[in-house]
Amino acid sequence: MREFLTKFRDPEIARALIKDVRHLATRVADRLGRRVVLMEVCGTHTVAISRAGLRSLLGDLLDLRSGPGCPVCVTDYADVDRMVALARLPGVTVGTFGDMVRVPGSDSSLERERAAGADIRIFYSPADAVAWAAAHPERELVFLGVGFETTAPAVALSIKEAGARGLKNFSVYVNHKLVPPALMALLEDPEIKVDGFILPGHVSAIIGRRAYSFLEAFRLPAAITGFETNDILEGIRQILKMMWGKEPRVVNGYTRVVREEGNKIAQREMAAVFRVGDASWRGFGVIPGSGLTLAAPFAAFDAAARFTLPPVVPRVPAGCACGEILKGKLTPKECRLFAVACNPTSPVGPCMVSSEGACAAYYQFERHYGERANHA
Ligand code: SF4
Ligand code: SF4
Repeated sequence: MREFLTKFRDPEIARALIKDVRHLATRVADRLGRRVVLMEVCGTHTVAISRAGLRSLLGDLLDLRSGPGCPVCVTDYADVDRMVALARLPGVTVGTFGDMVRVPGSDSSLERERAAGADIRIFYSPADAVAWAAAHPERELVFLGVGFETTAPAVALSIKEAGARGLKNFSVYVNHKLVPPALMALLEDPEIKVDGFILPGHVSAIIGRRAYSFLEAFRLPAAITGFETNDILEGIRQILKMMWGKEPRVVNGYTRVVREEGNKIAQREMAAVFRVGDASWRGFGVIPGSGLTLAAPFAAFDAAARFTLPPVVPRVPAGCACGEILKGKLTPKECRLFAVACNPTSPVGPCMVSSEGACAAYYQFERHYGERANHA
């Protein structure tokens, strides 16, 4: 396996790819009369691009923007506030994946609620949450179902498992989101100018290349790529080649993991438990058909229906530009709070909290590159 991966990390290959990318990008940028704008739609790509320094290496020709690629970051304020409200209910234990704990809501976060005495537990898998609920029948366990198509199948399985075990104290606050409708929302926004998409690896492993075919109607080139530097460079090269040849398609550059039809078993699990519904995304508002709800036979596992929550009136912290960053309208350095009032130890918005957040990636790897384009 190591030998196999070497190819995707080989610095010689990387140098050759960078040369090719720069050559192609120069021609395309000359023709356009501006830099080429590509958006990566995956938090792990954002981190990998920042870590490898690709933004500074290619920045004169390519504007590499981060999009709505981090499931924690796109969780709306109102949903964070509802998660906080769930944690405040007596007898309720909230189970979640790690990053969600620190995301600030309007007036609290799960971390602050935990400090105030709430029972909040981090689980490495939804199956662990089911096992915990089975061992603690005296508590109500509410699992936070946050994530894209990547995590939804495991959550679907956990709900089926809870049902099969007859658990009455397990429920899910379903907040899953689907990537293709978010891409559609970006393309329909006249203020967003993207020339091509670098498509996510793990999401694509579930939904398959074909799920992005709709991009071809927009005549927009896109490449599914893996997470090694050379994978990403090769994806960028493919997009530029398609732009130069004016033959936009959706190419699969991650064939070692992604199939045309995706993972049928995972799709079947999701379809058995969930139905497609509307979802509210931070920065975007409601995107039709971009979320999941529980199918009727599993309605008893819906935490939002099981518990009565107070109405929430979300407040966005003054100056936080997370919503604009998730739409690729601004880069983290263009937020006036970046590295001033907002940093990983004292984050103002989720993009600085999540390990896949654009602001956290820029802060860790890129804050010293180039001039700060600050509004201040
Ligand atoms: S879950 Fe996978 S595909 Fe989705 S944002 Fe994270 S790394 Fe990217
Ligand atoms: S720097 Fe902080 S406040 Fe600004 S957009 Fe990023 S997370 Fe939000």
